[in-house]
Amino acid sequence: MREQGLSIGQGISVMAKHKLRNSLLVALLVGVASHMAFAEEAAGLKDEVARQVLALEGKLIERRRDIHAHPELGNQETRTSQLVADHLRHLGMEVRTGVARTGVVGILRGGRSGPVIALRADMDALPVKETLDLPFASKAKSTYLGKEVDVMHACGHDSHVAILMTVAEILAGLRDRLPGTVAFYFQPAEEGPSDFVPDGRNTWGAKMMVQEGVMNEPRPEAIFGLHSWAGLQAGQIAYRPGPTLASSDDLRIRITGKQTHAGRPWDGIDPIVVSAQALLGLQTVISRQTDITETPSVVSIGTINGGTRYNIIPETVDMTGTIRSYDYEIRRSVHERVRRTVGGIAESAGAKAEVTIVEKYDPTINDEALTERMLPTLQWATDGNVVRSPLVGAAEDFSFFAKEVPGFFFFLGITPRDQDMAKAAPNHNPGFFLDESALVVGVRALAGVAVDYLSGGPQQASR
Ligand SMILES: [Zn+2]
Ligand SMILES: [Zn+2]
Repeated sequence: MREQGLSIGQGISVMAKHKLRNSLLVALLVGVASHMAFAEEAAGLKDEVARQVLALEGKLIERRRDIHAHPELGNQETRTSQLVADHLRHLGMEVRTGVARTGVVGILRGGRSGPVIALRADMDALPVKETLDLPFASKAKSTYLGKEVDVMHACGHDSHVAILMTVAEILAGLRDRLPGTVAFYFQPAEEGPSDFVPDGRNTWGAKMMVQEGVMNEPRPEAIFGLHSWAGLQAGQIAYRPGPTLASSDDLRIRITGKQTHAGRPWDGIDPIVVSAQALLGLQTVISRQTDITETPSVVSIGTINGGTRYNIIPETVDMTGTIRSYDYEIRRSVHERVRRTVGGIAESAGAKAEVTIVEKYDPTINDEALTERMLPTLQWATDGNVVRSPLVGAAEDFSFFAKEVPGFFFFLGITPRDQDMAKAAPNHNPGFFLDESALVVGVRALAGVAVDYLSGGPQQASR
């Protein structure tokens, strides 16, 4: 390609052309050699990662058990973030605390020049009462939206923190050989805040970190994260290029009619009947009004509340639900159709509908080129145990980081290999169980992705 471009250039003598050709050849050889050196260096770093992971496994498991026994709800992760900040400082990193309330960011600058990447772990637990009889089972209690609740790491964020702390330890040990900078994001409140109800004006977690400018200095070229997943066997990793997790928007509907005696409904406007019609109308937003051939969407109503007594037609009925999509344009169109459908049905009865949609989480969309590039690293981390993931109906606020820079978020299997997968307690279940043999795989994957990316690999060298 290059040669052809030159040979059609005017005024280049044959001699000059030869010289240029030679110098191009030299440049090419130097390029190949430096690529080989890079590839060798990356392989060397990865060997070191593999060695260190095994050496640190005991500490890794201990760390995860300690965090598991002391779970904290979103925006209350003070003990966990203290643990993280002390650890990162001990490793000699530049550390920022109080990020998006209780988050911690550590910056590790490698001894050689290179790109900046970010690795992310979320730290919060859930208002769930643990049912497993483990020596390190949670007995923690806390306050969730003003109510006392039991707290449990039922989504595996304890493992995310322990994994990323260990990755930080390994990469800090390789600092002199590291070609670039790694930012470690320990994020609060992925599951949402425990101290206020989202109303569309307040913010938390990943979105708040982005708003606070965490990604501005240093600006990462790419961000990586993982999630422990009960639907996969320990040792396995699942990935998906492009849309991977759904957006999640709160839907709140209030139907206002006119209260009256239930024996004389013609005297009022019945919001119970209107809400029933609206509920059925909502079923047509996806099934009749949305093109689902490329990407699915979901509209679900989870609560309906109205009325106080059998013979009173109430004034209002409240419904709440959720809207999920994997595409920004479809999400916008679903919102519009939900408003129109509910509004039109209410109007037909002379009632009033207030529809509030609070956008909570954007869809998590993996950068396709980045995903493809890092697959060999995941194969290396799992000894070839990588599978493709279906779309996941849950949401993740990793989406806000991946909206800023190319991101890759993948799933780490944590269910014991000999267990019937159909019977494994899912994430968020009180019986959620994590096979600790998965932890080293998570460390290998994240640390491997970091050293491979920084070294310009793994696949780039052969391109
Ligand atoms: Zn969760
Ligand atoms: Zn989670």
